[in-house]
Amino acid sequence: MNKTNVKQILKERFGFDSFNPGQEETIQALQSGKNVLSILPTGAGKSLIYQIYSYLINKPIVIVSPLLSLMNDQVERIRYLGSSNVVAINSEHDWKERKSILSNLEHYRYIFISPEMLNQKEINQSLAKLNIGLFVVDEAHCISKWGIDFRPDYLSLKSNLKKLGNPQTLMLTATASKKVQDDIIKKIGIDNCSRIIESVNRPNIFLAVQKTETEMDKQSNLIYLLTKLKGPGIIYFSSKKMANLMSDMINLKTKLKSAPYHADLSNSDRFKIQHQFMDNELDVVCATNAFGMGIDKSDIKFVIHYHLPKDLESYVQEIGRAGRNGQPSIAILMYSDGDEQIALNLLESSFPTERDYENYNKHKFNYLDEQTKRLLDFYYQHGYSESQIKQIFKENHSLKVKDLYKLVDYINYVGCRRKFIQAN
Ligand code: ADP
Ligand code: MG
Repeated sequence: MNKTNVKQILKERFGFDSFNPGQEETIQALQSGKNVLSILPTGAGKSLIYQIYSYLINKPIVIVSPLLSLMNDQVERIRYLGSSNVVAINSEHDWKERKSILSNLEHYRYIFISPEMLNQKEINQSLAKLNIGLFVVDEAHCISKWGIDFRPDYLSLKSNLKKLGNPQTLMLTATASKKVQDDIIKKIGIDNCSRIIESVNRPNIFLAVQKTETEMDKQSNLIYLLTKLKGPGIIYFSSKKMANLMSDMINLKTKLKSAPYHADLSNSDRFKIQHQFMDNELDVVCATNAFGMGIDKSDIKFVIHYHLPKDLESYVQEIGRAGRNGQPSIAILMYSDGDEQIALNLLESSFPTERDYENYNKHKFNYLDEQTKRLLDFYYQHGYSESQIKQIFKENHSLKVKDLYKLVDYINYVGCRRKFIQAN
């Protein structure tokens, strides 16, 4: 299949005139028979890659997806585009529906499946009978303990791929440091894998760090900065209280119009603020990291971090919201001595304590963040003992502490910051 044909499919089947960066390169690598790890930013159109490839090979494609909601969303979007030969195998079906799906698998172009379902013998055996054209691992960073959303059930992908006869594999993710990339490839157990990377370097974002001695200096510095900068911009805080406080101060002392955004606000308030920001009725949002996912505003001129983000990878993702229109923009990381202690305390509080385990076992309820709770649910449901779970969290904790200190290294780095990010 040649280049014009691929363009033609893009136009005729999907209605797009040109590829986004990384899409065509990935399709070409797949066409040459390689396994590919493709790292493209959120919104780059990763799904389109396997959708186009499916028209080139005319064999069924199996897509592993970590969340029911993501899976259903994809299925709906494909149906909307006019393909009805798509199915999702997940815990929502009863055995009768499942039986009927499994006996008709060869009729589907796209088969979405959760990693747990792939583990089930009956399902695995039915899939093994197919002539699978491509095996896609969506959100592939979930396989790495160093990734931001580690999903233990992704670890069985390697043995399941083997049972399926090691079909050609495409791994997709938006976030992967060098370390996570290597880990993904190792854990999935694929050699001769090409990597297509289209995310990290954003040359139009100027990278700066501003150190101050005390918290008071930091506050007045921020206000001073905002008299010089033009919006729209985002300022990230790790504390909701501080986000409220500084937002008030910005409204009082600068010409910029600001509002806070965090989990304590009602859904309707958050919705309102997001829209005011999109419509340029607000210059600044003082936010926690709850703000950002799904925010696609192209003219954001600055992203300031008042507190340290979780790690370098989250930092890169958060500042990546600036300058999507290609215009010069700036990312400023503010730091005063000892800030890492705040981050360490926060990290500490996101791990289960003895009380949390007790509470969890008694009431299946705790005050942990979503991700930790999900992991705890998973481990208990899969028969891990409490001491095994504690060991896993302990390892995870020390990894996260390391990642935090990597960020401190970035702050203290004297060479080119862009190079530091790319090397890590
Ligand atoms: P990702 O998984 O990379 O975050 P998606 O696959 O969900 O992104 O696609 C995001 C949006 O981009 C979708 O609405 C999709 O239709 C659109 N899209 C994909 N490829 C292109 C393209 N070449 N040109 C324009 N829009 C595209
Ligand atoms: Mg996606």
